[in-house]
Amino acid sequence: MTVPVSIMWFRQDLRVNDNPALNAACDMGKILPIYIYDDTTPDGRAPGSASQWWLHHSLTSLNDRLNGHLKIFKGDPKVLIPKIMESIKAKAIFWNRCYEPWQINRDKEIKKQLIDSEFEAYSSNGSLLWEPMKVLKKDGTPYKVYTPYYRNGCLKIEEPRYPKAPPARITYADDEYKDDGLDALNLLPEIKWDFTISKMWKPGEEGAADNLSEFIQHAARQYKDGRDIPSMKGTSRLSPHLHFGEVSPNQVWYAIKDKFGATEDKSIDTYLSELGWREFSYYLLFHFPTLPNKNFNDKFDKFPWRKDAKALKAWQTGNTGIPIVDAGMRELWQTGYMHNRVRMIVGSFLVKNLLLSWHEGERWFWDTLLDADLASNSAGWQWVAGSGADASPYFRIFNPILQGEKFDKKGKYVRKYCPELKDLPDKYIHKPWETPGVIAKDAKLELGKSYPEPIVDLKASRQRALDAFQEIKG
Ligand code: FAD
Repeated sequence: MTVPVSIMWFRQDLRVNDNPALNAACDMGKILPIYIYDDTTPDGRAPGSASQWWLHHSLTSLNDRLNGHLKIFKGDPKVLIPKIMESIKAKAIFWNRCYEPWQINRDKEIKKQLIDSEFEAYSSNGSLLWEPMKVLKKDGTPYKVYTPYYRNGCLKIEEPRYPKAPPARITYADDEYKDDGLDALNLLPEIKWDFTISKMWKPGEEGAADNLSEFIQHAARQYKDGRDIPSMKGTSRLSPHLHFGEVSPNQVWYAIKDKFGATEDKSIDTYLSELGWREFSYYLLFHFPTLPNKNFNDKFDKFPWRKDAKALKAWQTGNTGIPIVDAGMRELWQTGYMHNRVRMIVGSFLVKNLLLSWHEGERWFWDTLLDADLASNSAGWQWVAGSGADASPYFRIFNPILQGEKFDKKGKYVRKYCPELKDLPDKYIHKPWETPGVIAKDAKLELGKSYPEPIVDLKASRQRALDAFQEIKG
């Protein structure tokens, strides 16, 4: 009897452990594992520079896990998949579902096309704890507020699936089918800006497992407070690994639950609830597919955003003259990551103090974040802007000096990324413009030369934002 051959199509699930589609494919028989770099992505939604770097290394790592059997293509999956299936005489294809609107539409087309041609196509849930179509309010409509969504919806409907063991055995189909290969994707930057990034991150399943176990051992118990201190390793740094599916949220959820049990520990509950925010972002994107492009609250369509290329550039490069903002933007540039507390601070500064549209921030993050994720990034920016579902109200404007003084008391984080301020006393580290002359001289601070003057007056720009908000409120 011939053993059936099927295709395992890897997408945002670049792992062997807890991969429901891979398990199902292996249960059927031999597999041809493939990855397609889809060049039909809508404009501006191809992976940004940082994500491309990550993807290159993640695919290398997955290929190693599959003993060099991963076939890599570039092109339109709607064209490539039927061609490969015909050619290798595959019976079926398996994949884990993605939730970006353009991927949903594309996958539906592919499934129909294959079934019409008498192939079998199976999809599984490999990247969410609760799929968006399963969680609805009593009246059948989607939740728009996080707490009832998570507490009354998700937590009440069912326990997340327990992670699956990897396939006991993977048998590969004949390898003769010619692929394009990883180098054809051209994902690595020509200019070696990734030097610091590669020292900090290890894309792939192993790197994900390392971060998870380090977090469990050293930071999980203190997460509730530790997660707000940007100079500490107080969070799990799993976001790029989760985005590329090198670890599933189920593995993270149960690694925490199995270790800490049904604990009343606030830190553990808070951490699980952050995974819930990731779910909520996907949920919003699924039910409101215009989330990346349109204000969730359409009152904001009339918001008088400014255009100011100079201010935008100062923000992007970390030269606004506001230390905590500059430190955050430089952390992003140097490491491909920014601490969540600081994402909120730099976001508030952009949309409120600078009065620039959240789309400007969203696009910059898309290009520079290693964890750039359509759902979490769009939801995060709409939350910051006040235009989103369950968003921070527009009139709540973060004061970056107070935020700095509260969450970076001794200025450790600012000193790391703004070394030109390192000799300032703690008292002035978050407001260098107030430093008296003699002290500034001792600290080798020359405002406007060694470090920029603030590009906006915080008080006046706050008032300008509130006035702008008044215009759309009615
Ligand atoms: P931890 O604190 O260890 O949290 C564990 C996991 O929970 C994270 O890895 C992440 O998957 C999830 N999570 C935590 N907080 C959030 C949140 N607020 N929203 C959604 N998921 C969350 N996250 C991304 O993964 N990709 C993005 O593109 C992204 N863009 C953002 C843009 C803005 C303006 C803001 C305010 C937040 C954004 N976030 C984004 C959410 C959050 O900042 C990151 O998920 C978090 O900082 C990642 O660090 P961590 O893995 O150490 O998080």
